[in-house]
Amino acid sequence: MARTPRVLCVIGTRPEAIKMAPVALALTAKPGLDIVVLKTGQHGDLVDPILDWFGVAADHDLRFMERLVPFADAARRLSESLAGALAVIRPALVLAQGDTTSVVATALACAGSGVPFGHVEAGLRSGNLKSPFPEEANRVVASHLADLHFAPTPRARLNLMREGVDQHAILVTGNTVIDALLSTARRVGSAGIAGARGRRVILATAHRRDSLGEPLEGICRALATLHDRFPDVIIVWPVHPNPGIRPVVERVLGGLERVRLIQPLDYESFVAAMKASTLVLTDSGGIQEEAPALGKPVLVMREETERPEAIFQGVARLVGRDPERIVLEASRLLTSADAYNEMARGASPYGDGKAAPRIAERVRGFVGTARALPATG
Ligand code: UDP
Repeated sequence: MARTPRVLCVIGTRPEAIKMAPVALALTAKPGLDIVVLKTGQHGDLVDPILDWFGVAADHDLRFMERLVPFADAARRLSESLAGALAVIRPALVLAQGDTTSVVATALACAGSGVPFGHVEAGLRSGNLKSPFPEEANRVVASHLADLHFAPTPRARLNLMREGVDQHAILVTGNTVIDALLSTARRVGSAGIAGARGRRVILATAHRRDSLGEPLEGICRALATLHDRFPDVIIVWPVHPNPGIRPVVERVLGGLERVRLIQPLDYESFVAAMKASTLVLTDSGGIQEEAPALGKPVLVMREETERPEAIFQGVARLVGRDPERIVLEASRLLTSADAYNEMARGASPYGDGKAAPRIAERVRGFVGTARALPATG
């Protein structure tokens, strides 16, 4: 007797948990599928509260500690460990999301084990393999090993087709980050930011490898200038656990009266903070996608982005990491109501909140037509 097709969802980091939780839930809601969730451990403690928030339980934990492994060795070691897990779980399809070590290792393990791999958030490209590094390289490798490609936007689909991916293997779904965001924004209501007391709030984050060092110093100096220039503004910065970040942020911004350097927030608290903010300054991929959907102008502190759709729509702006440019662009939004309203009109080029059900439908079709698996295991 053939057994129920098993779909394995792999989750490594915080953003993967946020973006895969809606997929796991939508798949679980489909009859005739057996859903297994595996954490690689890449972001350790940051992942569990997110899975709890969405009501997703992890069945396996590889406890892979990326920070304890030399960078050049991480993908290989994790892929060996994943290959071992695949031999035990024996899925009909594996899904992973995004551009991290966990994703590239999953794609490699699937290819090596002959298991089909579906890539969620496929086709994002900066066009430069070295920036952001290693994310762009991870995305390209994942795409070239994937059997199914869930592209968030038509532009992502086009990127894949330019690289020779069969158009029938691509489905434009929207980004599942918007599914997660809209359901969470409804649940948190208007919780606000503790201590804001009616002041305008700049919500800041930075964590990318290519922001470390001098660029991060520049970002911090820009925020210090904004703090001094706008006495009715508080700056809230949930500092990412990457060890290269807190010392710099504390040194430049630590003593300032209206700067709150806090621990990373739970996802629901972060969504509440975005809703209550005036302006978002970030180098994050996910936050670039979320802020416009909440009607918050976002200044992207990077030199290029693989998510240009919001920039084309005028609800996000690429400002680089030069402190003068960051100060100029933020000041413009904090002083001109017209400039602010133009960017705060709210647009969601990355999704409509229904990406996960579209993915689940396609997955059901894919594993339904795949070879029936023997009943053992
Ligand atoms: N986020 C969070 N708590 C925080 C900061 C961010 O839950 O303190 C969420 C945010 O809503 C977004 C995701 O984490 O969905 C972005 O993660 P990150 O910036 O670490 O990674 P990236 O998106 O750049 O890969």
